[in-house]
Order: sequence, then structure tokens, then C-alpha cells
Amino acid sequence: MLSNESNTGYNASKYSYLYHYKMEERSLNFLEEIIEKDLAEGKYKSIYTRFPPEPNGYLHIGHAASICLNFGLAIKYQGKCNLRFDDTNPVTEETEYVESIMNDVKWLGFNWDELRYTSDYFEQLYAYAVQLIRQGDAYVDDSTAEQMAATKGDINKPGTDSAWRSRSIDENLALFEEMRAGKYPDGAKVLRAKVDMAHPNLLMRDPIIYRIKHAHHHRTGDAWCIYPMYDFAHGQSDSIEQITHSICTLEFIHHRPLYDWFIQKLGIFPSHQYEFARRNLTYTVMSKRKLLQLVNEKHVAGWDDPRMPTISGLRRRGYTPESIRNFADTIGIAKRDNITDVSLLEFCIRENLNKVANRVMAVLDPVKLVITNYPEGQTEEFDAENNPEDEQGGSRKVPFSREIWIEREDFQEQATKKFFRLAPGLMVRLKYAYIVRCDDFKKDEQGVVTEIYCSYLPESKSGNDTSGLKVKGTIHWVSVPHAQTAEVRLYDRLFRVENPANEDGDFKDYINPDSLQVVANAYIEPALTQAQPGDRFQFLRKGYFCADKDSTPGHLVFNRTVGLKDSWAKEAKK
Ligand code: ATP
Ligand code: MG
Repeated sequence: MLSNESNTGYNASKYSYLYHYKMEERSLNFLEEIIEKDLAEGKYKSIYTRFPPEPNGYLHIGHAASICLNFGLAIKYQGKCNLRFDDTNPVTEETEYVESIMNDVKWLGFNWDELRYTSDYFEQLYAYAVQLIRQGDAYVDDSTAEQMAATKGDINKPGTDSAWRSRSIDENLALFEEMRAGKYPDGAKVLRAKVDMAHPNLLMRDPIIYRIKHAHHHRTGDAWCIYPMYDFAHGQSDSIEQITHSICTLEFIHHRPLYDWFIQKLGIFPSHQYEFARRNLTYTVMSKRKLLQLVNEKHVAGWDDPRMPTISGLRRRGYTPESIRNFADTIGIAKRDNITDVSLLEFCIRENLNKVANRVMAVLDPVKLVITNYPEGQTEEFDAENNPEDEQGGSRKVPFSREIWIEREDFQEQATKKFFRLAPGLMVRLKYAYIVRCDDFKKDEQGVVTEIYCSYLPESKSGNDTSGLKVKGTIHWVSVPHAQTAEVRLYDRLFRVENPANEDGDFKDYINPDSLQVVANAYIEPALTQAQPGDRFQFLRKGYFCADKDSTPGHLVFNRTVGLKDSWAKEAKK
């Protein structure tokens, strides 16, 4: 199994190894083993899974792992997978979230067999509760929350029975009906399962299964003022949908006995719960509550801010569905909680974009280079291959002229050791074009270099180079008269520390103040003016970029998805 239990010291070649290992011959994970055994033994004819988000926020990369797992298993074993909105909490749920979740699941490439809402089962769940009351397995309790906490006991001490535990079935039925009818205010009564107040598992000590909440529900409106608790909704919903393998995260492991208890008492379809470890990522936070704070307090521009670990944020940042699916497959599933290095996610997107993104030239920190021996007013066009990794990628024309923009960092007044780009006396190749030699440069009063003067070698034209010269550096450029401008947003990690949720104090104290740097006026080659929001490119030598949703033909905006190399790995080694 390919889990990422230890997550330090990975490098790209190791990821690559993992990736190919996984694709070709990875062994079964523990869920696949269970499923294959269940199918072999004829326990089920086919499997049925579900992805059950609560619509109280946008989905994040952890959810993506769960989506890939649930839908992936259904695909692998030719079973089915539902999308089910677990909408039993009327206060935090919104239709906006429902829509974003459906959109994200589809974008990741999955189709649900059925779209379900737990709220569709409210009537059925109510009937199940009545059944339990009739069987003597549930009772209405008038205790306050404090009283209930006080009689709960603890791990070492058994709880004590509530004074209302011995109510008659008839009385319970009448009271529960009145609860439904709206006769009581919030918190006045609850319905509890009559399990065992001395049970070693505290969740089994007469858990609450219904509470009164006079709140408007995003789908059922004001039809209900009592709502089932998670434990009384989830397993039963699984059962109603005939889910065979109900996969959830580890924090629910102690809920499993209760899950089974309800199914057994109700005599309904025997769904089974299995747990796997939550997926976490370094340099970010993953809980929806924390992400909501970042949005509400405007630390980010919204749920889809490209720095967010949300699926919509990653999409806007330029991530592809394929890269996220590969990431989820590569980390696999684990039984122990762990945190995955974000550089693995970055590796997955680089690997994907390297194959599909067209190469283009953009200069982010420009300085002008003048080719003094190139005729004024002359223009020529070079054929530039769009993507050397893609034979069908085609080519484009790149205009060239006497004046070009290059990156300021590609020039040094005096070359330091191992600097193979431009400095007086040094030669470099201009990508797709000629070799140039630096002769001179000009500075302004502040000492800032304003122009670089070079001469070119006409016989060194790319593809037809007869100069016999070998130069060590190749740089990108954009012709001055042909250049278009664009805004470029350079994103970095949102947090300065690996696990902000684990640090002392408020996680927001660890926000990286430099997580967004805006280049207001980058120069781009003319081909890029056609870019539509969502289009992805490799800016040669600069990284992978994606046209933002804010981009218009008059004002192009690009997001940096990821650099070409893992710059943080280098940092760490220094
Ligand atoms: P959060 O804690 O981020 O609010 P949640 O568990 O409340 O998440 P749900 O909407 O209940 O979010 O989750 C839907 C499904 O996604 C559940 O099955 C849950 O176990 C799974 N899931 C949520 N977060 C992760 C994660 N980090 N890694 C793997 N699966 C996750
Ligand atoms: Mg939840």
C-alpha cells in the first residue's frame, strides 16, 4: 500500500518512482482487500459506496481524497456510488455549498449514481425513531444539557440513569409527537436511545438521537423543528441506500458500535462502516471551520482564492482534475493520521502540466535589451514549438525585433562565478532566435540598469546554426514593439509553518505575509492574448501559469500554479 506515513525527505525522483509503482503494481489497500473478500464470499453481489459531505462549506483536498476513494472503488469494482448531502444541521447549511460541491465532484471527473439528501429521509428517520420507542429502545428526556453531562460518567465511572429513562412507551410516543408538532422550545426535550448508561464506550451511554431546533432548513424549510443527530441519520441513510461499504474518517471509529446497534435494532439493510485516516497537507489548514474564518475575515479573497486548499481554489490556481486524482491515488489510504507534504501535490501538477501545457514566453521583471547590429524597424518571426512533450502540440510564431525585454535577473554587471547568462563579454542564446553577446549597458542616476546593449550573430539562428559556437545559457524574451502586458499573481504557501493548526495560539498568526505578490505589468508574447480563463501554460523558465477568472482581453491576469522546481526543497537544504 502506498501511504505516506513518513513524509519528510521526499524528492521528485522518489515521487516519480512511487507514481509508476502505483500505476503498475501497487498492492491492494485494506479496503480493496475487504471488498474483494466480501465479493468472493458472496456477501454482496456488487458494492455500493457514497460520498456524504455536509453542505456547510466548500470541499477541500481532503474531501477530494475521499471522493477519489469512494467513486474510485465503485469504478474499480463496477459498483455504484452516490453523492449524498448530509444535511441534518439546518443552521450551517446553504444551497451555495450544495452547488459548489456538485460542481467540484463533476469537475474531478466523477458521476454519482444517485443524488441524495439526508433531509429526504426525515420522514423515514422519524418512523425509525418511533419504531425504537415502540420497542422500548428510546425515550424522551427532559433533562437539561448540564444534567445529562453530569450523569454521563467518564471512562472510569459508569453513568447513571436519567430520571426520565423509565417513561412508558405510550408517554414517549405522545411526547415525541408533540416535539415534532412544535410544542416545546429548543433544548426542552431530546429523544435518547436506551442503550446502556454503564457502557465502556461513552457514545453508547444513551446517545441523543433527536433534538428540538426551530430553524429553517435549506430544503425542508419550516416543515421540521426536530432534527436527527448525525449518529441517527448517517447509518440509516446508508441502509436506505443499501450502501455496502460506508467509508468515513477515523474520528468515527468509536461511533461504529452505535452505527451497528441502530441497524440491528431496526432490522434494516446491514451497511458496514470502515474508517481511514484523514488526509492533511502541510502549510495549510483543512477544517471547514478554519477555512470559513479565512474567508470571513478576508485573509483570502474567497473560498476559491488560489491559495486555498479547496478544490475550487486549486482549480482557479491551475490544478487539473487529473493531477488531484493522481495525488489522491499516490497518497493512498492509511489507518493512522498523518500529514502529507504539499510538495507531493505540487509534484503531481508539474508532472501533468509538463505534458499538456503549451510553452510561452513572459517577462515578469523586465529590462530592455537592444541588439545594436540588428536593423531598426526590421521584424522576423520564429517558429516556436508549443510543447516538446506533445507531438501534436503544434507550433506558433514568435515575433522578434531589435529591442526585446528580458528578465532583470538574467543580467549581471559583472558576472559572478558560474553565471552563464548576460554580462559584458558573455554570450547567451535567445530562445528560438539568435546568440547575442553583451557589449555594454546603461544605468540611471540611482544605479539601476536601464538598457543592455548586445550584438547578435546572424549565423546562429536557431534550427540553422552555423556559428559553431556553444553557449551555456538560453534565456527567454519578448519583443518590445510586440509585447502585450498582463497582471501576474505569484502565489506562495498560505502559512509559514508546516502545521498551523498544531501551533500555539491562533492558527492565523502563522499566515505567510508574502503568499501573494502581484506583478502589475509583465510582458507577454502576443500569442498569449488569446488566453481564456482556465487556460494553462508554462511560462518558460518561470513556472506553470493559468489565466484567472478575472482575466479579460483588455486586462489579462495569470496565476502562478507552481514553479518549475521545488524551490522550498532548495531552501531547506541551505
Ligand atoms: P471538516 O472537518 O473539514 O469540516 P468534515 O468531515 O466535517 O470536514 P464532511 O462534509 O462531513 O466534512 O465530509 C464529507 C466526507 O469527506 C466524510 O466522509 C469525511 O470523512 C471526508 N473527509 C473530510 N475531510 C477529510 C480529510 N481531510 N481527508 C479525508 N477525508 C475527509
Ligand atoms: Mg462532518
